[in-house]
Amino acid sequence: MSRPLLMIPGPVEVDETVLQALGQPPLSHTAASFIEIFGACLDALREVFRAPDGQPFVVAGSGTLAMEMAVANLIEPGDRAVVVDTGYFSHRMADVLARHGAVLESVSAPAGDCPSLERVESALKAGAKVLAITHVDTSTGVLAPVPDLAALARRYNALTVVDGVCALGGETFEMQAWDVDVCLTASQKALAVPPGLALVMAGPRAIEAFEARRRPAGSYYCDWDLWLPIMHAYQARKPSYFGTPPTNLIVALYESVKQILKEGMEARWARHRKLGASMRAAMQALGLKWVPARPDLCADTLTTIYYPDGVDDTLVGRIGQHGVAVAGGLHPDIKGRYFRIGHMGILCDAEIRQTVAAVEAALKDAGYLGENGAGVTASQAAYEHAR
Ligand code: PMP
Repeated sequence: MSRPLLMIPGPVEVDETVLQALGQPPLSHTAASFIEIFGACLDALREVFRAPDGQPFVVAGSGTLAMEMAVANLIEPGDRAVVVDTGYFSHRMADVLARHGAVLESVSAPAGDCPSLERVESALKAGAKVLAITHVDTSTGVLAPVPDLAALARRYNALTVVDGVCALGGETFEMQAWDVDVCLTASQKALAVPPGLALVMAGPRAIEAFEARRRPAGSYYCDWDLWLPIMHAYQARKPSYFGTPPTNLIVALYESVKQILKEGMEARWARHRKLGASMRAAMQALGLKWVPARPDLCADTLTTIYYPDGVDDTLVGRIGQHGVAVAGGLHPDIKGRYFRIGHMGILCDAEIRQTVAAVEAALKDAGYLGENGAGVTASQAAYEHAR
């Protein structure tokens, strides 16, 4: 089957060994071999999240379920929550919080920007149980300053919840050192596994806050009371059952996590910095503008680019005709004006080159007078020099 190179912001390209792990006959969730794999995977995830004292939860579901699991276990109706609004997925987090009865304050910024620390601080001053941050908002490509925001939350005694769906395993992230209380993600992004797993890492303060709840979580499937004994059992290499785990996906996740730790977190973050720098350099060389308002707000896991004058959203299809799948706009305020290129997981400069060449060819087809070749050359130089 001929398929395009997948450069959307998830699902992403997956290593052959991860696919092979996924394609094996299913293991029983109580088989000794599976218990060992799941237990070792949970242990290893603490290293990926940099959360040596974290409690991992891995369940069948997508990133949205991971968001709901974090919220359902921390929020009780009437609790105040502050959302750092950097785009579409911050709006989703606000919706999930509202559904669970939170009294919300969203601190918003125009598409492509991030609200200032001062504005977030004044929202926190009124008191909040949770500060919700989208590490990289996939609709804008904006990277939020998580360490600064988490430090603010600490000062005002709020729990920091980070949506790391488009970041974890690509962007630098130190859960314990940055004092983050919950980080959540999904398998299909920088962890480089097919879609289907929701991952949540809860720090000690989050577990304490959960244990101090007055009533049970407002979601049965997400309830940590039901999942904690299961995660503890796998960590202790003992059989247990609540909801059947997707055993094949967990075997595949463990394969990828082993590869991630073999590469090393610092090396992986550095490779993603190279991917980001080279894609941005290419777009700049082609005369295109990215969505984030300032260079320090640019994520390294995806690039969001405005269509140049005279080019419309048919560009995404044209790039597809040159063998590379990219995504259209998502933020409601600018939806038809930009496109998105994901670059996370196992990629290196070859895939960036192929993507930039496809963008150049598509821009030529669309009649935009880009200098063919300028982007590829610039991306290669930036890849080599980025640190
Ligand atoms: N948060 C962010 C930042 C995301 O990018 C996504 C998915 N694109 C989600 C949450 C939701 O994840 P899912 O689509 O797997 O439910």
